[in-house]
Amino acid sequence: MKKRLFVWFLLSITVLTLLSGHAVKGAETAPEESFEQKYAQERLSLADANRYQTDVTLSEDEKQLDERLAEWKAEYIASCNGSVPDKMSVISDETIWSSALYAFCKSLPKGADLHIHSETLLPFDEVLAFVESRDELYIGTGQENRYILFCHESPGDAGEDELPVKEALMQGVIGREELKKQWTILGGEQYEDIWEWFELLFDKEEAMSATPALLEAYYKEAFRYCCRNNILHVEIRKVFSGSHEKAAAKAQAIRNAYYEVKKEYPGFIVSLVGAGLKRADLDRELTDVRLDNAVYIHEHVRDESDPEHIHDFLIGIDLVNEEDRSRPLIEFADQLDGIVKEHPRLNLLLHAGESLEASSDNVIDAYLLGAKRIGHGMNLYRFPDLMDLIREDDICLEICPVSNQTLRYVSDLRSHPAAEYLKRGVPFCLCSDDPVYQEHTMLTDDFFAAIVCWDLSLAEIKQLCMNSITYCCADDFQKEELMNNWEKQWEEFLSFGE
Ligand SMILES: [Zn+2]
Repeated sequence: MKKRLFVWFLLSITVLTLLSGHAVKGAETAPEESFEQKYAQERLSLADANRYQTDVTLSEDEKQLDERLAEWKAEYIASCNGSVPDKMSVISDETIWSSALYAFCKSLPKGADLHIHSETLLPFDEVLAFVESRDELYIGTGQENRYILFCHESPGDAGEDELPVKEALMQGVIGREELKKQWTILGGEQYEDIWEWFELLFDKEEAMSATPALLEAYYKEAFRYCCRNNILHVEIRKVFSGSHEKAAAKAQAIRNAYYEVKKEYPGFIVSLVGAGLKRADLDRELTDVRLDNAVYIHEHVRDESDPEHIHDFLIGIDLVNEEDRSRPLIEFADQLDGIVKEHPRLNLLLHAGESLEASSDNVIDAYLLGAKRIGHGMNLYRFPDLMDLIREDDICLEICPVSNQTLRYVSDLRSHPAAEYLKRGVPFCLCSDDPVYQEHTMLTDDFFAAIVCWDLSLAEIKQLCMNSITYCCADDFQKEELMNNWEKQWEEFLSFGE
């Protein structure tokens, strides 16, 4: 036996030696790769390793739409003298509106807008039509109160230098174009600090949400507008002030509007995110009241549109305001942690990383506190290890390209860090932030800007649309419904532009 094994061993060694000799000989005789061939191969493998990462494999129909999309993109870029523009002045640029690419973005089934602030959904013209239609809304015409909106349920309460909005416009006391400037970012061009102007806009138009009746009427219009623009779901960040009862009445008014619109568009779903304010000059106790109101609404105002399946209506909490002038998140760590421990269905959806300061590290706190999503996360690129953790833990960033440009966090949209996040596999979705104040159209313009400035193809666009549903805070039942409805919309959309 041992002898036989030894013979086998010798034979195997001989065969192996012959084979390897042959292989070496073969390599010697094979034609050598040219420099160009080797270079091209290495280049291709490096380029492949650095492409956008998605889970999407395009079907035949999708590939065809992708080809049409590439043509529309090229057409638009050609109309900009052949170079990709650094800014997207979407509303004022007719080259954009009239492009086939813009029509594509309008019809795109966008999924959800997961980062949008209260009463900023409708575009300016529709806001104007709304305030004109409401008898209780007045506008200041004096020197001190000019362009400020007031709500008076009894006409006798109006001041001498206030007029019903409709009357002020009809009489020409207030001009429409001037009002547009005064109520949007357009009027802030000369401001060195754009946030100074931006925060004034919230104060000027605050009266639009003064009563539950106004809120209900506004949101009916706003939700219909979402549905017409192929948005299936919104999570609205709203600050609820005052007593529990007042806060709940406002949440109920928004819910009434949602129920009404849901009759017309059954697949549409609305959720609220209760926000506190974190600006350092504001009374900290007011933030406590607002977060407490959010918890109260979470517990008492639920989505009962389908009596057989009751869902949460207020699904998360956040803290808003300009980050660089606010208390750091770490100051609220205890409080936020306590709230979500006591109310485990409430999600932390925290603004963090909307900053250009090198020292700003709120994204670390947002991560440590267990945020489900991070609002903006624009400066995450400064924290490479954290970026890895956020990817591994599957935390989604809410990226708002047009807002970041408008509020001057990026001067050139082509170098927005989100393009890199997409290559590193950090999940994000596109969101619109404050469309009416920032003079852009909810999500449509954000997709347009991202497609052009980051050179996205249909695979990336599909991924971003799906992300907006995957990472929303609806419960599993609602999420499945949303995804099914989105898939139906997407199937129909594939013939767009044929
Ligand atoms: Zn925001």
